[in-house]
Amino acid sequence: MGFSYNCQATCSQTFARAGVWNTPHGIVETPRFMPVGTLATVKGLTPAQLQTTGAQMILANTYHLHLQPGEAIVEKAGGLHQFMAWKGPILTDSGGFQVFSLSELREIKDSGVTFRSPRDGRIIEITPERSIQIQNALGADVIMAFDECPPANTSRTEVERATQRTYRWLERCINAHQRPQEQALFGIVQGGIYPELRCQAARDLVQLDLPGYAIGGVSVGEKPELIHQIVDITAPLLPPHKPRYLMGVGTYREMAKAVAAGVDLFDCVIPTRFGRHGTAMVQGERWNLKNAQFKEDFRPLDETCSCYTCQHFTRAYLNHLIKSREMLGYILLSLHNIAELIRFTQKMREAILSDRFASEFAYWLKEEDKSLSSF
Ligand SMILES: [Zn+2]
Repeated sequence: MGFSYNCQATCSQTFARAGVWNTPHGIVETPRFMPVGTLATVKGLTPAQLQTTGAQMILANTYHLHLQPGEAIVEKAGGLHQFMAWKGPILTDSGGFQVFSLSELREIKDSGVTFRSPRDGRIIEITPERSIQIQNALGADVIMAFDECPPANTSRTEVERATQRTYRWLERCINAHQRPQEQALFGIVQGGIYPELRCQAARDLVQLDLPGYAIGGVSVGEKPELIHQIVDITAPLLPPHKPRYLMGVGTYREMAKAVAAGVDLFDCVIPTRFGRHGTAMVQGERWNLKNAQFKEDFRPLDETCSCYTCQHFTRAYLNHLIKSREMLGYILLSLHNIAELIRFTQKMREAILSDRFASEFAYWLKEEDKSLSSF
């Protein structure tokens, strides 16, 4: 079975859409949040637990898996699905974002990027060909083009140069890709905060007729208003019969606004990162479970939530676990947080299917009230 995206419904007031995307390891109902499993593990959760959150497609990270254990080991194990025992679809990023975030980045050239490994200090070169070779060996359903991801404060000239290089690298990624039947290669629209660069990049990428498209280089330190603006102008330029993925974004308001612009897929590390810090995401709020107010609160974490955590444990118990730094506390919060973000995208999906999206999500679609600490 290959890849196909079928749009089931569109919103009459926004560009929001609901669809089903077929992949070799199962379907993804969109819009959908994808949990991040950087090192071939969504931190703290077994695949069986992950399944109960409603997770369909998950992410793994090319850069981190290349450093440890190395793609050869994963390939020997039979690929990522076998290695980590996740039967559903998987997406690997190209490593570009991580490599460009490194302080030990040594050199960016047209040929590729060299950097010092933070693990053992050796010099590593990642080229577009190398990134695809690693991702072919890892064997995820979706692989990402190797792109240059400049930080938010980069000048227009530099961003333009990076965007053009990203396009040349994409052509090399397409040529290097050895498993196009089993692995869909997504192109990434770059262009920083500059609308005309974003538009040009989107148009250029669409010409290449790829199986899916991502909007990259957002959430790298720019203001949320700019993320909305970039997504609003980029998403409608992408082909309607292919999935659209906004990389690294997983906050309620940013996801709702992106869905309104026509985006289908999201990923973000916050649900597990918050979980590991004792923070629960409850209906748009952040709760610090260490707080004394939860000490004798014997209600479920979220009374409306059907996740395993909320069905079995009280706020008082979670407060106790987190205060005692018990592993289970972090696991239960991560489980709930992932379920919460997936449910948010599922609710958007249901609302689009019955054309109630614009009214039901009106709160999240308006600009943020700066007096509130929502996120
Ligand atoms: Zn829950």
